[in-house]
Amino acid sequence: MNKLPALFVSHGSPMIALEDGPAHRFLKGWSSSHARPKAILVASAHWENRGGPAVSLAEQPRTIHDFGGFPRELYEIQYAATGAPEVAQQTVELLQHAGFSVSTSNSRGLDHGAWVPLLLMYPDADIPVFQLSLIQGAGAAEHYRLGVALQSLRAQGVLIMGSGSVTHNLNEIMGHGLDDPAPSWVSDFDSWLAEALAAGRVSELLDYRRLAPHAVRNHPTEDHLLPLFVALGAAGAGAVASRVHASHTYGILAMDAYSFN
Ligand code: ZN
Repeated sequence: MNKLPALFVSHGSPMIALEDGPAHRFLKGWSSSHARPKAILVASAHWENRGGPAVSLAEQPRTIHDFGGFPRELYEIQYAATGAPEVAQQTVELLQHAGFSVSTSNSRGLDHGAWVPLLLMYPDADIPVFQLSLIQGAGAAEHYRLGVALQSLRAQGVLIMGSGSVTHNLNEIMGHGLDDPAPSWVSDFDSWLAEALAAGRVSELLDYRRLAPHAVRNHPTEDHLLPLFVALGAAGAGAVASRVHASHTYGILAMDAYSFN
């Protein structure tokens, strides 16, 4: 069993919960080769908070079906993990200590950025889970700093997981089939990211919007990439990034996952 890394996963379409495919199989295989976490912190693309990060202290977070137009079967899925209010409270304190203005919620449930990958990774829902929001309007550097503030949780066996998408321009999904190859404006971006992460070029990564090819086209808004910077920050200085999964769905959604050891 490996020590728990910090992790970033691309969650793609919520249909990944039901449909087989390379990323589905990668997520399903995750837990068998890693130590069992004491709790899981998920920084999901689908929760943003104004003015600073928010942390969910919910004892029994409900499953939020925050998507439209999918088959009924997907809306019937309940991911019944308990919350982790004690670790969540500790997270609040770590973030406050790092200078963030932190909000809390006692009722916030798990959005699909959290429960869809977790359903595949930990189908028994027997590990406590809580969510950390993104900060509305803040960029890569601020989210990296969020992750840095959380490093000590990893030593306690908390899995810090960012959930978003390595590329995410849904405006261009029309006309693409599930198994279409990636166009070059997508693959150039995901290759740049992989190389910068493998080489540990953090300052370039934090400036990805200016430096990476087609960055703005792949991320018209930053929400689906920002969770990666939380994981990168939580990994700590000198951590080695490994691209532990790479695939595409609908040509334009890179489903890559990174582990930071
Ligand atoms: Zn999403």
